[in-house]
Amino acid sequence: MNPCPRCCNPVEETDNYCRHCGRSLKPGTGFLFSHTGIILMAFVLGPFALPFVWLSKTIGTTAKWIYTGLLVLVGIYFVVVCYHAFLMIHDTAQMMLGGGF
Ligand SMILES: [Zn+2]
Repeated sequence: MNPCPRCCNPVEETDNYCRHCGRSLKPGTGFLFSHTGIILMAFVLGPFALPFVWLSKTIGTTAKWIYTGLLVLVGIYFVVVCYHAFLMIHDTAQMMLGGGF
């Protein structure tokens, strides 16, 4: 019997969640590692949610690859958008410099 790290009630070693307060007791099984948590993080962090996908013990390997693929696509899209924004700013700056003189 170990004490729960949050509520200090005794918990079984085989328990994934504390039966008193609901805290996850195994690494990679918390809310952030569930499907909902990962989808939420993907919206907030984008490709940086990737480590959570692979640390998760809640989602299956197939789901991990699907999330990885989606996050990589989002990452590429993000880079392309940034690149276009940079080109636009670059062109605008050149136009302003060129037209001003
Ligand atoms: Zn607890």
